[in-house]
Amino acid sequence: MGDFFGIRGLLNLPKGYLRALKDTFIGICKYFLVPGNLDQSSSFDIGIFELLLQPFMKPISEIFSLLTVPRRVVITFHQKPDADAMGSGLGLYHFLIQFGHNVTVISPTNWPSFLNWMPGCKSVVDFEMQTDKAKQILQQAEWIFCLDFNVLNRTKKMEPLIEAHAATKILIDHHQQPQVEAFDFGISDVMKSSTAEMVYDFIIQSGHADKINPAVADCLYAGVMTDTGSFRFNSATANVHRMVADLKDRGLQHSQVHENLFDNFLENRFRFFGNILLNRMEIFYEYNTALITIPQADLIKYNVKTGDTEGLVNFPLSIKGIKLAAVIIDRGDERKSSFRSKAGFDVNAFARKYFNGGGHVNAAGGKNSEPLDEVVRRFKVAIRENEQELNS
Ligand code: 5GP
Ligand code: MN
Repeated sequence: MGDFFGIRGLLNLPKGYLRALKDTFIGICKYFLVPGNLDQSSSFDIGIFELLLQPFMKPISEIFSLLTVPRRVVITFHQKPDADAMGSGLGLYHFLIQFGHNVTVISPTNWPSFLNWMPGCKSVVDFEMQTDKAKQILQQAEWIFCLDFNVLNRTKKMEPLIEAHAATKILIDHHQQPQVEAFDFGISDVMKSSTAEMVYDFIIQSGHADKINPAVADCLYAGVMTDTGSFRFNSATANVHRMVADLKDRGLQHSQVHENLFDNFLENRFRFFGNILLNRMEIFYEYNTALITIPQADLIKYNVKTGDTEGLVNFPLSIKGIKLAAVIIDRGDERKSSFRSKAGFDVNAFARKYFNGGGHVNAAGGKNSEPLDEVVRRFKVAIRENEQELNS
């Protein structure tokens, strides 16, 4: 699949041709249209190029009529899944199995233990821990659903396998600048609060609302609730609240979901937070910015596990006047950063430009291979370069 309109087959072009074409096109246009402003034109490609490339990923509504024919289906999402990735993945799983599909959820990596309560989580295959099993199941797949990520490299070691796979690939995602040429069908909508909301829309629009059972409802609620900051962000639209009301009518146990997600941490996580807020947080009032830097030694000392650092970046954002909050963690194999912002500072562009990352306008992340000191230095240069936006 992925041979849009038969062009690639006809010209015998390699699979990555569209991406190469897109990159070249973007490069040429940036050179001629945005001279001297190459680095800051990252948002330039959003409008024009997504418009041009939209035809290459067919609308997801085209698979509605195919849903009733049982298939071997794999659902995957971004590495180190959060509640939206896992919740939308398992919500879709509980929906699809009702048609008799043979469905497996494969996570590119492990996940935080606060997601283990989700119905079906025990049968999720960890690609890194169960590589042979995962590869075997992936190989057999006829459909691959890709959720909550925009570019295939967010699936880490699964990327080359998905890229070369002959299966039909379907994207459901709300991040900017999706790699549309990598998918056959899909929907990408940055206006959506969460992938869970998009899976809900997918179910409703396919005409199978009756298949939303309590398992589907709990999983989708977990995704939409966490991605909207417990319905705090602007992305929590009236439609989101209507969705929650509908899920409630269909058996959602929302207090139980909150308890499962937020009241299951171990003491060490709070001791770790205490240490971080006391010793590892710097405030740059002149840039309305806060930075938390976490050396690997802290992760070891407090026995920090995947997911324990989730939410940490929001603490400094609640300090009066802070517009940009960042956490840079030395994970050993890489330096992982998380960015959150307020008042119109675009951390997606910021993460793309300085930290090999991306995300949304107010929540983004990235990763670097350089040592921690170097990444912190880069961050300080970056806020200086963005002084105007941070102070406006
Ligand atoms: P978090 O800070 O919670 O890890 O991520 C915030 C947002 O940024 C998420 O929507 C996530 O998908 C995106 N994001 C985080 N890390 C990366 C990265 O390394 N690359 C890209 N493209 N997006 C990221
Ligand atoms: Mn999401």
